[in-house]
Amino acid sequence: MAAPIAQRALKLKPSASIAAKKLVSDLQAAGHQIIDLTIGEPDIETPAHIVDAAMAAARAGDTHYTASAGTAALRDAVARRMASEKKLAVKAENVAVGCGAKQLIYEAFAATLDDGDEVIVPAPYWVSYPDIASLHGGVPVFVDGDGENEFKLTPDALEAAITERTRWLVLNTPNNPTGTIYAREELLALAAVLRRHPHVWVMTDEIYEYLCYEGDRALSLIEVAPSLFERALIINGVSKAYAMTGWRIGYAIGPKALVDVIVKMLSQSTTCPSSVSQAAAVAALDGDQACVTYARDLYLKRRDRMVELLADAPGICAKAPAGAFYLYVSVAELLGLTTPEGKVLQSDLDVSLYFLEHAKVAVLDGSAYGMSPYLRLSFAASMEAVEEGSRRIVEACKQLSDATPRS
Ligand code: PLP
Repeated sequence: MAAPIAQRALKLKPSASIAAKKLVSDLQAAGHQIIDLTIGEPDIETPAHIVDAAMAAARAGDTHYTASAGTAALRDAVARRMASEKKLAVKAENVAVGCGAKQLIYEAFAATLDDGDEVIVPAPYWVSYPDIASLHGGVPVFVDGDGENEFKLTPDALEAAITERTRWLVLNTPNNPTGTIYAREELLALAAVLRRHPHVWVMTDEIYEYLCYEGDRALSLIEVAPSLFERALIINGVSKAYAMTGWRIGYAIGPKALVDVIVKMLSQSTTCPSSVSQAAAVAALDGDQACVTYARDLYLKRRDRMVELLADAPGICAKAPAGAFYLYVSVAELLGLTTPEGKVLQSDLDVSLYFLEHAKVAVLDGSAYGMSPYLRLSFAASMEAVEEGSRRIVEACKQLSDATPRS
């Protein structure tokens, strides 16, 4: 008998990156030697002092439900970080802890969107924003970025996208998939637009904050325009900076009234995140930060190597991103070319499938991120995988040019 599936679940798309991860695992399990450049998480282990803190917490009996907002220790640690780095006078009551940044985004939209409320999502975007907004009755309003301008949302484009129904602007810097980071002046210009529209709230997704290759961290819109804090929700977490994706700890920081309603939603979904993971997150935030610098240096070397090798790939235009661990490369010049198997490439999805089937390299197509024809190549993979994957892509691109009939 067919399962009773609600309309909103029927409309929901599975996360493209999670689907890719499964496809690659299935192919590898079937014996294929796939180089995986779809990875959306650090390939390094969680630093030992963080793991030790979790084990100590478990042994000390820290194994019970915590408050739905998170432990006082973790909320205090987040508030201290906001004060010391961003000079924001944030208290524990402004912080909600959830099972990853993703859950906070989910609960924030659940708590604030009525049917038809609009969410401005600059494209290309992290795959989950539109789907989570739609699931809660929201209407994603996409604003396409320009590759020549690092895909940045401009003040004019933001102004044009705002309507009476706009509830949120989602701003993700450093950005997934492009790695783009907004400079202070650019943030100030966007803040000026937001000030003209007091009904619009801003969700700043800062999960890649410390994966920044020019300086120690990316700036937040809210630290350059603190008066916007009263209608902002800062999203962050330990997943990317501290290699803790599996621990599932994220946090949202905002005005108490909004945080309270998010906490109510959390209390009716997961009750609270893992007590042991929260203890680990406190150790991450309060402990030695050398692990963050170590990870950044590692990714920087891989980024530069990938860009260097891909410079030899005909038809691929790879620029070094300012942050995160992805290259978002245009494959416009590959469209229309013929594969050695005789297939004409029509889209970035075709190109990604060609790389997978022909070169055994897995990458994600730009259509998943709302902008084509591009591919997202992750360098959160070992240097060997970065080098071998890039070489295979270069070779596959050369074979396309050779196989295409001259007109
Ligand atoms: N925001 C962005 C832009 C991401 O890329 C991701 C994960 O890939 C998340 C949020 C979710 O992070 P978390 O692991 O904390 O749920």
